[in-house]
Order: sequence, then structure tokens, then C-alpha cells
Amino acid sequence: MAKAISPYGIALEQLRLAAEKLKLDSGIHEMLKVPKRSLTVSITIRMDSGGIGVFNGCRVQHMDARGPFKGGIRYHPNVDLDEVTALSMWMTWKCAVVDIPYGGAKGGICCNPKKMSKDELERMTRRYTSMIFDFIGPYRDVPAPDVYTDAQTMAWIMDTYSQIKGYSVPECVTGKPISIGGSEGRAEATSLGVDICAREAAKQLNMKLKGATVAVQGYGNVGWNAAKIAHDWGAKITAVSDSTGGIYCKEGLNPYKVYEHKQKTGSVVNFKGSQNITNQEVLETKCDILVPAALENSITKDNADKIRAKIVAEGANGPTTPEADKILFEKRIILIPDILANAGGVTASYYEWVQNLEREHWPVEEVNTKLETKMVKAFNDVYVVSKKEKCEMRIAALMLGVGRVAEAIKTLGLWP
Ligand code: NAD
Repeated sequence: MAKAISPYGIALEQLRLAAEKLKLDSGIHEMLKVPKRSLTVSITIRMDSGGIGVFNGCRVQHMDARGPFKGGIRYHPNVDLDEVTALSMWMTWKCAVVDIPYGGAKGGICCNPKKMSKDELERMTRRYTSMIFDFIGPYRDVPAPDVYTDAQTMAWIMDTYSQIKGYSVPECVTGKPISIGGSEGRAEATSLGVDICAREAAKQLNMKLKGATVAVQGYGNVGWNAAKIAHDWGAKITAVSDSTGGIYCKEGLNPYKVYEHKQKTGSVVNFKGSQNITNQEVLETKCDILVPAALENSITKDNADKIRAKIVAEGANGPTTPEADKILFEKRIILIPDILANAGGVTASYYEWVQNLEREHWPVEEVNTKLETKMVKAFNDVYVVSKKEKCEMRIAALMLGVGRVAEAIKTLGLWP
């Protein structure tokens, strides 16, 4: 087995590769290696049993040279400062790659949301919000959903923030329910962006998305919506998985029916007409497009050689290790990196924030048209750099993102 490399270790290695290519000023490289601010909190709440629950949480703000901090909040038993720091750094590059005026941040609480009641989750979310209150806000740092947090979580954050302020502040979070200022199209935006990038990459291979075979790892917000949109565009979803296992059907799965099945049974496994397979087998399925949409370190040097997709579109953050990147590049697989492929989420979040600040509500067509234009431009920008530099799209995207952030730092100068 390969020695596991931590997400922050991976983020630092990616930054090093980009810095080398860009011949980045060593001082700016040092600045970018560490977050500007990391806040750790111990969240104590009353559990339903009557006892006290204590949870470790954090909010990491990486770099805000291009605008206020922005990033999701994750609830998961593996959340730690290392992982959240890596995710905050990726957010910085991601916002720069799609050229939206934000810096990168991320938050998380180490907990097992599957074993907590809705009331416990609400109390934990509200207590956490109160503890990071001084460091977030519409012009400081704007949270959004991530793994095992959703629109409801954002509603609790907005309400807690607004109650403390004394007036309603919908622009303090994105990914909210539409009834309280959420944007049309936000729930599907990450996945729409993933599929737009996959479609653009397919064009480079003279391949159409219609009729293409697609495998999706992870059947949460990003995975299921990516499967649904690709299916609606005429692709064939042959394999999907969640944390409990995977399923395969040569003739194609109906993602809507799989979603219903997961809602009923809590898992994609045992879906009628499909064959149960392992999570690993889903990744290794022969297909045109593979969408890893679960967690970090899914494609490593141990399984990269077995990947048989033509295109890998990273719905998740950090699913591929640097060693695996090289193997996929040598196999001529087009890898669309996370900081490009899943940037549709933060882009639609940005549109939500703009609508909130302007007290507007745009129709879904307007959001999706703007998103399409942004994603196609970002894809082409990265693709052009990758061809010019003869490098992986990940390095090209990093060069673009890190380069834009470095430029902003230089322009702002250092105070005092
Ligand atoms: P989610 O909680 O809605 O879904 C996560 C899914 O992954 C679940 O279906 C879970 O069962 C599955 N999973 C967990 N471990 C797995 C494993 N070992 N094998 C297969 N499946 C597994 O989370 P999400 O919001 O869909 O986020 C998924 C990924 O996308 C994360 O990396 C997240 O950071 C990234 N992302 C999310 C957004 C967004 O808008 N939600 C935006 C950008 C990036």
C-alpha cells in the first residue's frame, strides 16, 4: 500500500509544481503555503440524551487578496485541520480560475452526522456559527454547503448570524433554500459545471456526450446531479456508488430511479436491474467519463493504472493524488481538475451573493446561461495553457489560479 499523503501535503505539492512553472517569487510562495487565519473551536451542545456533546470544529481562511473569503462547511468524522486547510487553499485557486472576486476558505466539524438527530445538528450548527461569528459575514467570509451539510444547514447559519446582528442578512451564506434568498440553479450548479467541462473535454476527443458512458463515484449532491444532467443530455450512466457500495448496468441506469431507491433504502446498492459491485470497481469501470464525486484520495498510485475512462472530471475536491495524476497523464486520460471541474458551485454561489446584495432574484435561465459562459471560458483558458505548457490540465489550472492570486498580492502590496 502507498503511504497515504495528507490532503494538505497534496495541496502543498501542487502549489510547489505551479510555483516552479510560474517562477513564482519565493516570498509569495511562502505566503501562499499557509492560511492567513485558522480558527479552531470546541463546540459543546446538549445531546438528545441529556448529556453534553463536544465537537472539534474549525474555519480556515487561506487568502483574500482577490476578495472576501468563500468556502463550504463539511461535517464528517474525518474532518481535521489538515484537510480543511487543503480545501481552503483549493478554494483560493478555484475562485481565481473561474475569475470570481473571492478568496479561499473552508470550515468543518468532526462529527458523524448520520448518527445525530436533526435537532442535534441544528444546535451544533448554531453554536458553531456563534463561535466563528466574528470571522464570517457578507464582506468577510461567506460559507456554503459541502459534504453532509445542505441548504437547511445554511438556513440555520443565516438565522443565527441574523439573530445576533439583529436584522436579516441573507448574503452571509450561499446555498440557502430559495424561500430565504437562495439562487435558482444553485443546487445543481456544481454538477452542471462538471458536465459542461466533461462535454468540452469530449469535444477535444471528437466525442459527443450524447451516447457516452459515464461512471459516478458518490451519489450525494454533486454525484447524483451530475448523473442526472448527463443522463438528460443523452449520456448512459453505467455505474454509480455511495459509501455503502456500487452498482453497474451495461444498458444504463436511470439516475432518477436510483435516487428514489437511495432515498427509500439509504443506499444505491441492490437497485433493481443492476449488479452490485464494489466502490473500487466503479472507479475501474470501462467508460468514457468518470466522475469522482465523493471524498479525497480516491484515485491513487495503487489504482490509477486500472482507470479505463477517457475523461476524468473531478466533481470532488482532491480525489486524485499527484502520483496518480502522472499515471493518468501518461495514459493520455484527460483529467479535468477539481479547481476547474467543480467550480460551478462557487460560481453559482457568487451569483447568489450578488443577487442577495442587490435584493434581486434571477430566473434559472439567467443563472445557467451565466454559468455556462463562465465554465466554458475557464475550461478553454486552462486547456490553452495545458497545450502551450505541454502539461496536465491540473498544473495548467494551478498556474492560472496561483498566477492570478500572486498578481493580486503584488498589486495590493504589503501593509504596513
Ligand atoms: P454529499 O454529502 O452530498 O455526498 C457525498 C457522497 O459521497 C455521498 O453519497 C456518500 O455516500 C458518498 N461517499 C462517501 N464515501 C464514499 C466512498 N468511499 N465511495 C463512494 N462514495 C462515497 O457531498 P457533496 O456536496 O456531493 O460533495 C461531494 C464532493 O464534492 C466533496 O469532495 C465536496 O468537497 C465536493 N464539492 C461539493 C460542492 C457542492 O456544491 N456541494 C462544490 C464543489 C465541490
